[in-house]
Amino acid sequence: MLTDNFGRKFYYLRLSITDVCNFRCNYCLPDGYQCDNDRNFLSLPEITRITKAFAQMGTEKIRITGGEPSLRKDLPEIIARCKQTPNIKKVAITTNGYKLPEHIDNWLDAGIDAINVSIDSLDPRQFHAITGHDKLTHILKGVDMALASGIQVKVNTVLMREYNGYDIQSYLDWLKDTPVTLRFIELMQTGDNQEFFDAQHIQGSRIKQNLMLDGWLPVIKERASGPAQEFYHPDYQGKIGLIMPYSKDFCSTCNRLRISALGKLHLCLFTEQGLDLKSYLQHDDVEPLKARIAAMMQDKKATHFLQENLTGATKNLAMLGG
Ligand code: SAM
Ligand code: SF4
Repeated sequence: MLTDNFGRKFYYLRLSITDVCNFRCNYCLPDGYQCDNDRNFLSLPEITRITKAFAQMGTEKIRITGGEPSLRKDLPEIIARCKQTPNIKKVAITTNGYKLPEHIDNWLDAGIDAINVSIDSLDPRQFHAITGHDKLTHILKGVDMALASGIQVKVNTVLMREYNGYDIQSYLDWLKDTPVTLRFIELMQTGDNQEFFDAQHIQGSRIKQNLMLDGWLPVIKERASGPAQEFYHPDYQGKIGLIMPYSKDFCSTCNRLRISALGKLHLCLFTEQGLDLKSYLQHDDVEPLKARIAAMMQDKKATHFLQENLTGATKNLAMLGG
């Protein structure tokens, strides 16, 4: 089992398969994707070796992310490879939902178990102002299709003072009859968004207080689940999660590792650098790869240093998949 020096166990891998994104979310890529990077993203055989190695070291859940993962044409094959890997119990994807209605059937056929869709406003004008796209109705149609298929659907909403923070009620109204888990994510500072962060960051703790006062109750967590504190209410079909990376002890239950689309292991979302694994991904024998990953784990720190405004090398989360 992959364990670090603080006794944390890593059941969960976030695998980025591309840095490219077609959206221009104001907190992430306000100027759109800039093609100034190496675009030599992980190939299908490299992804297969990574998932095999992690699965043999105790990983149970893989989340495919990006950039926008649905921009990769071989996404169904990637899902299928992850799903066919022995020991992997759950394969999930995080997407902006742009291609959800067209592709959900292919992803389901490939074996996807859960879908997270990012929807930062339920107001079409605000949605456009945040993402640069007029696609809210289309994405909500994809959410309905995913729900109709019976798989687990979560919606991610990044909290922003002037874009959605004043309108939590519209989400609550939606959750009355919509059986999704809606996760409010506190905006995180990255290398590129300092000014935006200062103007827009609001804390999730205030929302939590209001939920508790309104009779929402905590959900018991599974071991491969994420850092969200989740709540349910008997009068609502949907649940609410809060992801509060600035809260005390946020990192103490960390159970995830990240691989970038360029094949680097990131021990934390906010480390100074990714640790290159590319040369270990060129042959089918995964033993050297496993040994390398296990050795790298010794460098994992107890916490991030976001409270001190240290964002490491992470310019935006599209680089690494959030
Ligand atoms: N493009 C896909 C999407 O938007 O769902 C996957 C990649 S995106 C980087 C993954 C998640 O990170 C999304 O839910 C997004 O809203 C969130 N995210 C991006 N930048 C963030 C930031 N600075 N603070 C908090 N969450 C952020
Ligand atoms: Fe693209 Fe996701 Fe970043 Fe929005 S949050 S710009 S959809 S990577």
